[in-house]
Amino acid sequence: MTTGSTLLVCFDGLRRDRATPERMPNLARFMETGADLLNSRSVFPSETRVASTSTVTGCAPGEHGLVANQFINRAVVPDGLFNTANHHNLARADDLGLLLDRESLGQRLARAGKRFAVVTTATAGATFMMSYGAQKLGQPVFSVHQGVGSPALTRAAEERLGPVPAAATPNTAQIDHATRVLTEIAYPDHRPDLAILWMSDPDITSHGFGIDAPETIAAQRGCDDAFGRILDWRGSGEGPENIMVMSDHGHVTGAAKFDLAAALPGYAGSLSPGYFSGLYLPEPTHDTIAVAAERLAQQPWCGLVFVNVPGDPLASVPGALPASVLGGGHPRSAPVTFTLRATGSPESASPETCLFTGSISPGGGMHGGLARGELSTVLAGAGPAFRSGIRSQTPCWLPDIAPTLLTILGLDTEGTSGRVLREVLEGQESEPPAVSRRSLTATIGDHQQGVEQWLVDGRPITDFGWSRGPGEFPA
Ligand SMILES: [Zn+2]
Repeated sequence: MTTGSTLLVCFDGLRRDRATPERMPNLARFMETGADLLNSRSVFPSETRVASTSTVTGCAPGEHGLVANQFINRAVVPDGLFNTANHHNLARADDLGLLLDRESLGQRLARAGKRFAVVTTATAGATFMMSYGAQKLGQPVFSVHQGVGSPALTRAAEERLGPVPAAATPNTAQIDHATRVLTEIAYPDHRPDLAILWMSDPDITSHGFGIDAPETIAAQRGCDDAFGRILDWRGSGEGPENIMVMSDHGHVTGAAKFDLAAALPGYAGSLSPGYFSGLYLPEPTHDTIAVAAERLAQQPWCGLVFVNVPGDPLASVPGALPASVLGGGHPRSAPVTFTLRATGSPESASPETCLFTGSISPGGGMHGGLARGELSTVLAGAGPAFRSGIRSQTPCWLPDIAPTLLTILGLDTEGTSGRVLREVLEGQESEPPAVSRRSLTATIGDHQQGVEQWLVDGRPITDFGWSRGPGEFPA
């Protein structure tokens, strides 16, 4: 393998505190013997397509522009919701120049004459974003979804390994299949300098059954067994020099289903509803945004409220915080965004539950918001590029992954806004970054909200957020 060659493995939806030796012994051993980043965090909203885009661009959502899993983008979908799970929607937005404002890892590697590959069981949309540019560049992509991967790798996998197993929860059969595609075809045939393997569990199983359900524990074990086979394969000298592991976000427990559209009849047509929601006001001005934010804050189901005043991303209104302080506030972001109410406070972390909309049932896992369980992620690395046995307390987040990978590969990091995690890299020792804490709060009437952040060399990383409002948590 080439110097610096690295495999990035993502366990979708894996909370750091559930990545235990009991549930995931291979992963736990890897984290303990390699470089483990204890205070790693997701981005906000903590949604998969947003997170995977931050991972491969090294930028916050306010910079890359894939601002939510679902939002309103009238130039692409004139009278409906722009759902980023659908790769045809993404391709249409991309053709219009309205999808991504920053370069992806795949594009950067191609520019440097290096090889890049993606193997994934994630949705078509997440695959499109994590492999952004691959189609035009002819980079190999394998997806379990038909018509999403690159033709040659898809055909080679079908010929040598047979058809893709059916999707299920746990999705272990598909994950095992993808792992074989990675180790038996993608690496020997394409010798990638950088590859991404994205496992759709434990996320989908946790959504269906809950974060501590036997099915989710079985899903974690399935991922871990596959990861164990990857470690054995790498140990035999066939794979990359380095492995980096991550999760894109965690999960909290969905407590009760909530009909948000019915609760906001005045905003039909401008609402992108979810546990994380956007209000695309027809005439977003400082005043109309302030009125909408106050109205939301009066509702017992409302969690945190953020605003993105057009042309003035640092502006706030009473009861809200500017989305830009969390790395949001893109021109495609809604003028008003909010989460549904979740439990959790600055003083007490658990158990965290939230209201939700959509397809899960009460007790199922949920994410998208700012609770500790959603933002805490796994991030660790091992191999010659990484220091061994390091447990780093320095806070970090998804945008730091791409510049760190680029540095390992000997490439420049210009255009990324994350930080190279030098404290865990071999031979990269430097002055540790300056770390401080800050609390941002906003209050209006009975509604209070706060965001707890670190400042790492002056750049904010959100630890978690909380809200309190009128009435009891409506579960
Ligand atoms: Zn995810």
